[in-house]
Amino acid sequence: MIQVSKESASGQRPTLSFEFFPPKKPEAEPLFWGTLERLSGYRPDFVSITCGAGGSRQTGGGELVRKVHEQTGLHTVAHLTCVGASRPVLTEMLNFYRDCGITTLLALRGDPPRHEPAGTLEQGAFRYAEPFVAFIREYFPAFRIGVAAYPEGHPETPDLEQDQLHFRRKVEAGADFAVTQFFFDNDVYFRFTEECHRKGVHVPIYPGIMPVTDFKQLKRLSELCGSALPQWLVDRFAATRDDPEAMLRTGVSIAVEQCRDLLARGAPGLHFFTLNQSVAVPSILEELAGEYY
Ligand SMILES: Cc1cc2nc3c(=O)[nH]c(=O)nc-3n(C[C@H](O)[C@H](O)[C@H](O)COP(=O)(O)OP(=O)(O)OC[C@H]3O[C@@H](n4cnc5c(N)ncnc54)[C@H](O)[C@@H]3O)c2cc1C
Repeated sequence: MIQVSKESASGQRPTLSFEFFPPKKPEAEPLFWGTLERLSGYRPDFVSITCGAGGSRQTGGGELVRKVHEQTGLHTVAHLTCVGASRPVLTEMLNFYRDCGITTLLALRGDPPRHEPAGTLEQGAFRYAEPFVAFIREYFPAFRIGVAAYPEGHPETPDLEQDQLHFRRKVEAGADFAVTQFFFDNDVYFRFTEECHRKGVHVPIYPGIMPVTDFKQLKRLSELCGSALPQWLVDRFAATRDDPEAMLRTGVSIAVEQCRDLLARGAPGLHFFTLNQSVAVPSILEELAGEYY
C-alpha cells in the first residue's frame, strides 16, 4: 500500500487523499493554497497534483509539486503524462522529481492537447501508460507508481473487457496502486475491483470521488471522462438548479452516502477530486468524522 499516515499504516483508518490541479491564473493561487491548507488538517495520506499533456517542466506540475512538497511536508504525488513526449524529456522530469524528494508518481498516458495536429499520440516515446510504467520501473525503481483506472471503461475504448485487460497489464508492468475515474454507481466499482482480484490484481484501487457543487460543470466533466450520470442523481439535482446552496447540500449528501457505502463494503480509501474548492470536501469529511476519519 502507498506510504500512509500512522493511522492508515496500522489499518486504523482507510486511506485518504486529495487531488488538486495547478491554478491557471495567479488570481486562483490563494484558493489553491487556502484549500490545501484547510484539507491538510484532515491528515491526508497523500495529495496529488495533476499535470498537462507532454510531461515537460512547462506542462507538468513541476515547480508547483516541489513547492507543495517542501512547504507543506505532505506526501505529494506528481501526476506525469507521457503523451507526445520523448524519453529525454520524461527522463528530465523524473530526475527532477527524484531530486526534489518526490517518491510517488501517478503515471498516465494523458490526452493530446485539443489544438495539436493528429498524430501526437504516435510521436511520443510511449503510446500507452503501460510501457511508460515499465520504463519508470526499470530506470527509476525507487518511485512508487500509481495508475488510472476506469471502472466504467475509458472513454476511448470500444470494449470494456479489453480495457480491463489493458488496465491489468499496466499494473503488472509495475504499478503499486491505482486511482479510479469518478463514478456514481458503487456496484460498478465493486464489479471492477472484484474482477481485478479474480484476475490476480491485488494492488489497492482507490475510488475517485467527485463532490458535485455545480451540476452543469458535472455534466461537461462526465461527458469528457465517460462517467455515467444515473437518473436518480439527475432527479436529485433537478430541484436545485437555481439554488447554489441547495446544490451544494445535495452534492455533499450524495457524496456522503457514496463514501459510507464504499467504505462499509471494503474500499481501501477515498481519493477526492477537490477541483481546488475548499467547501465540499470538508463538509463530507465532517459527516464521516468519528466513523472513518
Ligand atoms: C485519477 C486520474 C487522474 C488523472 N490525472 C490526469 C492528469 O493529471 N493529467 C492529464 O492530462 N490527464 C489525467 N487523467 C486522464 C488520463 O490522462 C486520460 O484518461 C487518458 O486518456 C488516458 O490515460 P491512461 O494513463 O489511463 O492511459 P492508458 O492506460 O494508456 O489507456 C488509454 C486507452 O488506451 C487503451 N490501451 C491501453 N493499452 C493499450 C494497448 N496495448 N493496445 C490498445 N489499446 C490500449 C486503454 O484501454 C484506454 O482506452 C487522469 C485520470 C484519472 C482516472
